[in-house]
Amino acid sequence: MAHKTEALFRDDAYLRTADAVVVAVNERGGIVLDRTIFYATSGGQPGDSGYLQRADGSRIVLAATVTGETKDEIIHVPAAEQAAPAVGERLKLAIDWERRHLLMRMHAACHLLTVVCPFPITGAAVSEDDSRVDFDIPDASFSKEEVTASLMGLVRADHPIFTRLISDEELAANPGLVKSKNVRPPLGTGKIRLVCIGENASVDSQPCGGTHVKSTGEVGEIHIGKIEKKGRENRRFRIRFGPMPQT
Ligand SMILES: [Zn+2]
Repeated sequence: MAHKTEALFRDDAYLRTADAVVVAVNERGGIVLDRTIFYATSGGQPGDSGYLQRADGSRIVLAATVTGETKDEIIHVPAAEQAAPAVGERLKLAIDWERRHLLMRMHAACHLLTVVCPFPITGAAVSEDDSRVDFDIPDASFSKEEVTASLMGLVRADHPIFTRLISDEELAANPGLVKSKNVRPPLGTGKIRLVCIGENASVDSQPCGGTHVKSTGEVGEIHIGKIEKKGRENRRFRIRFGPMPQT
């Protein structure tokens, strides 16, 4: 039976620690908690690593966080040779915050890229040091320098980033909100989470379940490392941290 884990990171992506109770340990050792701050791999964002601390102070180190039978069930995957907790046991949760914050900055940077390049998205992958977004662009007239300058303009403007819930009907009435060509946000749950940028979402809004920093300024300095041609109409943009290297 799939459990529904309360996903604390959806309301507050800045939670580094929390308490939770073990509700199940599956046959492969995966740990299900009643609630969690660990983001599970989905939507191009990798799951969190970190540890679960037991009452005696010992730690269960987590290698990964994934979704289970349903998207609402979050499985904490221990690293090799970790002790298994008991069902009902209360644990203290701690995510690898340094890594998560890099992922939040990068994930927000990917949203900024979709503002600068308003084309259908065909794929995306966020990582701590190099992220990519693939676009369906018939004519490739973008340069790394121009796109970097536009991205940094949005970063320097320090726009707020926040989430808002809308109904299936509101989304249906605004099909332009969905930028992904192949992936549609899940309908039928009644509420869709929009990630908005700018006062009153003036810069952007799109459905997303990931974790992001709270302002574009917090993304920090980024640049386009590469624009690659992937097929006739597909362009892959790579985002990296720091200033553009001088060539
Ligand atoms: Zn997002």
